[in-house]
Amino acid sequence: MATKKKAAQPAAKKTAPKAAKSAVKKSAVKKTASSKKVKYVYTWGAGKADGNGGMKALLGGKGANLAEMTRIGLPVPPGFTISTEVCTYFYDNSRTYPVSLQAEMEAGVKNMEKIMGAKFGDAKGMPLLVAVRSGARDSMPGMMDTILNLGLNDETVLSLAAATKNERFAWDCYRRFIQMYGDVVLGVQKAEGEDHEPFEVVIETFKHETYHKDIIDSDLTADDQKELVKRFKALVKERTGKGFPTNPWDQLRGAAGAVFGSWMNDRAIVYRRKYNIPAAWGTAVNVQAMVYGNTGETSGSGVAFTRDPANGKNEFWGEYLINAQGEDVVAGVRTPENVSTLKAALPKPYAELMKVRTILEKHFTDVQDIEFTVQEGKLFMLQTRNGKRTAAASLKFSMDMVKEKLIDWETAILRNPAEQLEQLLAPIFDLADVAKAKTLATGLPAGPGAASGKIYLNAERAVLAEARGEKVLLVRTETSPEDLRGMIAAEGILTSKGGVSSHAALVARQMGKVCVCGAGGVEIDYDKKTVTAAGKVFKEGDFMSIDGTSGKVFGGELKTAPSEIISGIVSGDKAAMATEKFKGFQQLMKWCEQATRMSVRTNADTPEQTRIALAFGAKGIGLTRTEHMFFEGDRIDAMREMILATTLEARKAALSKLLPYQREDFTGIFTVLKGLPATIRLLDPPLHEFLPHSKEQQNDLAKKLGVKVETIIQRVSDLHEFNPMLGHRGCRLGIAYPEITEMQARAIFEAAADVAKKKIKVKPEVMIPLVGFKKEFDLQAEIVHRVAKEVMSEKKVKFEYQVGTMIEVPRGALTADQIAENAEFFSFGTNDLTQTALGISRDDMGAFLLPYVENDVFAKNPFATLDTTGVGQLIETAVAKGRQTRPDIKLGICGEHGGDPDSVVFCHNVGLAYVSCSPYRVPVARLAAAQAAILEKRAAAAAKKK
Ligand code: PEP
Ligand code: MG
Repeated sequence: MATKKKAAQPAAKKTAPKAAKSAVKKSAVKKTASSKKVKYVYTWGAGKADGNGGMKALLGGKGANLAEMTRIGLPVPPGFTISTEVCTYFYDNSRTYPVSLQAEMEAGVKNMEKIMGAKFGDAKGMPLLVAVRSGARDSMPGMMDTILNLGLNDETVLSLAAATKNERFAWDCYRRFIQMYGDVVLGVQKAEGEDHEPFEVVIETFKHETYHKDIIDSDLTADDQKELVKRFKALVKERTGKGFPTNPWDQLRGAAGAVFGSWMNDRAIVYRRKYNIPAAWGTAVNVQAMVYGNTGETSGSGVAFTRDPANGKNEFWGEYLINAQGEDVVAGVRTPENVSTLKAALPKPYAELMKVRTILEKHFTDVQDIEFTVQEGKLFMLQTRNGKRTAAASLKFSMDMVKEKLIDWETAILRNPAEQLEQLLAPIFDLADVAKAKTLATGLPAGPGAASGKIYLNAERAVLAEARGEKVLLVRTETSPEDLRGMIAAEGILTSKGGVSSHAALVARQMGKVCVCGAGGVEIDYDKKTVTAAGKVFKEGDFMSIDGTSGKVFGGELKTAPSEIISGIVSGDKAAMATEKFKGFQQLMKWCEQATRMSVRTNADTPEQTRIALAFGAKGIGLTRTEHMFFEGDRIDAMREMILATTLEARKAALSKLLPYQREDFTGIFTVLKGLPATIRLLDPPLHEFLPHSKEQQNDLAKKLGVKVETIIQRVSDLHEFNPMLGHRGCRLGIAYPEITEMQARAIFEAAADVAKKKIKVKPEVMIPLVGFKKEFDLQAEIVHRVAKEVMSEKKVKFEYQVGTMIEVPRGALTADQIAENAEFFSFGTNDLTQTALGISRDDMGAFLLPYVENDVFAKNPFATLDTTGVGQLIETAVAKGRQTRPDIKLGICGEHGGDPDSVVFCHNVGLAYVSCSPYRVPVARLAAAQAAILEKRAAAAAKKK
């Protein structure tokens, strides 16, 4: 079979001779230039390893940790990792390999053969079979491909059967291998119009023909497996026109190529985009000696977490299947057993597993997600990685591990991903509604939270429904990684089969999606597009609800209630405040306070919003949009009157009606703030936003103001602008109508004076919007300073205040040194700064955002996550120039980016004093700011060490 001659052939030559030639040349050049041979293969086994856990960039997470587990003496089957550099080479060189790879792989196989006492492709004695798995730097569960039992053919299957004296097992392995290899490497997959995987169809047909009923795979006999192998091979021939490859080295090269190829498959691309994993990282390939969980009743395979990744409890958590290989557990085809029952089923390996659990947590100081196999009573570890977890679990793990002295409090902060924190604030079902609802089925609670939505039975339709604005629940028999897009679109995911550790459940949890798995009582009919539970039939588009904390499935739409954290913080609910989740959250925020350099303010327009934000730890207001104060009740009428006025007197009369409203609001806000700063922005939006545009509104306003409707129509038409976002807005309003600025300044300062008189400290910061020229600022600031003086003398009270500006147009950033001569602070208005720097309307991105993200023009929506490369330069310039003129200038940000974790990190790094965001995002920003400070401190310490 695997003749020496063939095995020695470089893979590159076999795959693509022409491209290989140039690849060879390139690598030869590389060699002479560095005069050092590049190492592509890293072996491990029998307590020794070339690599270690710190080499994730080169070996991928899986490879690095297999090496690390080997080094610390855990029972790991031997193997080798083909480094991520080979993946880079593969894509840079028309999918060919470096010339020296083959020889390094051969050495790797020899090492395995020596340790295992078996030979790759041995048709006489025990053959060495291998597993081929992907392994990126960051784990991407289920996104890429795996091939098990590689090395089997018509001859080695016989030697395997003879050596193990287990014919059924040998043929089971062979059948599995053809199926996996056929699917992954040879592309024998569901064709268009087919509902089921072709290999599965062959199995199902065989089972029904032979047994006339559903039987589980482990009940298939040796003869059944032989027959299936025959049928599988025929299927491969029919679909590919070629026979199944018999040479183990051909098989190995093909498998490695498929794993590298899977780095660019659709689901891997979608996953990378979601989690910001650069395509340039590439994946490694791990080739590992097979150990077998499918040899009989004393064998099995499992996946487990050292603690519960859904709720964070310090309980060993996972699943296994007796007489099965690892893929059976994660694929969700058979519903696995809870790992707690393994103690009774296989006591010795279970005890060993418990020891491994402790060793791993101590060594990695984090919760591990492990894969193991028991072969005839002996435990083997196949993988360990930091476990994906819900936000609730992250919080509990981090709190518990500090108590257990496994980590310090700063590490605890880093263990809570800022972008996941919002999950903790997500709603739960209204308890009264749940009490009334009938539970139609119960599955496994795989992703906590409450979700109601219209059901859709495939990912594509779920995505379309979400795009139409519907709340979606994705319902599948078992989810596969192909469903990723649908899962992203859905509020929650419900499956009728599969366990909590299926790949889909892992991904759902990480995304913070509510998930119920393996709800056996739910019947799904893909053809009829119906879901039946407890006799009730639901059609696509009907509402269902799932509780990912209890695993319960309900019909219809249930009301949701706020999370304990919201109830505790916002409403002061005592029961909520007594929960462990609430206490953990508060502790985390306390530590953030200790770690952070940058403070977090809020964007708030009302006393109530301010109160909530302060309860979340905001240190003042970073932006009050004064125009929002005119939306309420009949304030809009006075505002419209002001806008429609054609004479100064008429405008002043209308403004005098607005003044008391504004003063009252500011008084409320200053009172809540108790001396914390409030940045209040003068009127900013294009005036037409306030105008009545419909006939009905125009008639109504004409009546209220006692003018002819024609007058209003004419004025609306006069005020029309072709591009209002770049038109008469921001400080341009106050410059054209200084009386508006005067009124607003008066309202602010009169309120400040009134509150100061009550012995409550006030700190108003008046902010001039959309400044691009120093003169614009100066004109407005002059009015503000004059009014401040007047009010202080009229009210006979003194208070501190500042006047500053927003930096939100590129000219403002570029001339920040001039503007800072009189401006006491800058706040970056990154919504407008992004709009004007990119030349993209902040309100009109719908038509091209998706193609821009899909084609990697944008890594992320630049209105959500700061474009640090472009807009970031403007900010850096303004910071430097502002400080040049006024070294102590106060700098902050109040655009939407102030609540986005990545953008917060950028703000920390450029040295802003604060970020400002909406009240409910304050905790997220606090966490991100604290993390940025800790990482900076650690990087500085590491640099000092060097
Ligand atoms: C901004 O432009 O970033 C900003 C905060 O102002 P607004 O969103 O009100 O234009
Ligand atoms: Mg703006």
